[in-house]
Amino acid sequence: MIDVEKIRKDFPILGREVYGKPLVYFDNAATTQKPQCVIDAISEAYCNENANVHRGIHFLSQHATDLMESARDKVRQFIGAGSTEEIIFTRGTTESINLLASSFSSAFLKEGDEVIVSGMEHHSNIVPWQIQSERYGFRIKVIPVLDNGELDLEAFKALVSDKTRLVSITHVSNVLGTVNPVSEIISEAHSHGIPVAVDGAQSVPHIKVNVQELGADFYAFSGHKIYGPTGIGVLYGRKELLEQMPPYQGGGEMIKRVTFEKTTYNELPYKFEAGTPDYVGSIALAKALDYVQGIGMDNIATYESELCNYAIERLNGIPDMRIIGNSRHRSAVVSFLVGKIYPSDMGTLLDRLGIAVRTGHHCAEPLMDRFGIPGTVRASFSFYNTKTEIDTLVAGIEKVRKMF
Ligand code: PMP
Repeated sequence: MIDVEKIRKDFPILGREVYGKPLVYFDNAATTQKPQCVIDAISEAYCNENANVHRGIHFLSQHATDLMESARDKVRQFIGAGSTEEIIFTRGTTESINLLASSFSSAFLKEGDEVIVSGMEHHSNIVPWQIQSERYGFRIKVIPVLDNGELDLEAFKALVSDKTRLVSITHVSNVLGTVNPVSEIISEAHSHGIPVAVDGAQSVPHIKVNVQELGADFYAFSGHKIYGPTGIGVLYGRKELLEQMPPYQGGGEMIKRVTFEKTTYNELPYKFEAGTPDYVGSIALAKALDYVQGIGMDNIATYESELCNYAIERLNGIPDMRIIGNSRHRSAVVSFLVGKIYPSDMGTLLDRLGIAVRTGHHCAEPLMDRFGIPGTVRASFSFYNTKTEIDTLVAGIEKVRKMF
């Protein structure tokens, strides 16, 4: 059970007003607000624990290193990975996928090979592959999206060939809210010996994820979307694959021995962590993971699903409402259009009522093209949102609709 009023008190920003109205924050898919314990963890790290990690023999450096490494173990446990060697800290999902695309392509891809992505990917799971495909000459194939916002799994099976080297798909769509059947996709890919990378930016904050149970070979997510700070994220990768992949960036910490003739690389995960890492970010991320585990991922999923169903039911009562994406398996995101009202007009007017929604293409232009729309209005929910806030949104939309 979620005690939402108690939880809201943990998030200082939720108490503020915008334009003299109480803030209704429905832009959680873009970034989540931070509980006081995460804010305090950042402050505490700089007040009491700050020193560069891994290189120092002095007390504070070792202390900061211990805190960062226990944060890595927290992440490992949170996503059910087998070893901390498989947890690479990055700046976020985008950097995780760029690292993967660069390093995996260098190790495993050549002309004539194929990588499969889906038609509902965020640009950050499209463009990194395009950049590498220009370099290595592999082809990108796309799983089509059905009218209801689900992936066409039959088409996926037909796309898999003896040239497929990787499948890279999102777990949850940041536009449609669709929760993709990644287990099924992974089983199918693995039956052909093909590894699967999963973009978990929109899943890890909302549903319990266990990378080993899913069988994912790679899994990426961002700290700031799961109540942690900006600038920190994770790439999980299976050790056996990571070991075969070259470093992404060169610099301090990722080496074993450097000479001008030959440099050897550090062991996992440090091989992929060049330079001073955001150790404060990782410490605060661990605090955020503790926080959501304290509420319970199952409680979060149940509450958010109830909230999302309520939102869909209420939104469907508005004339000229068109919800984009009606998957039976969905997470806490609803995208919609109302009549001919431009999403940006709707967003701007809702903002004046204190309601923060996102409008536009949501970094998923191919998906917008698929539905023949320039963009949507997107409301995305967290466990700190309430049904009353959804009522405020619905009343706001009605008000805007009457103006047009
Ligand atoms: N993938 C998905 C599905 C997303 O929703 C986002 C963020 N909107 C990203 C990747 C990129 O995440 P970040 O900007 O934190 O790197």
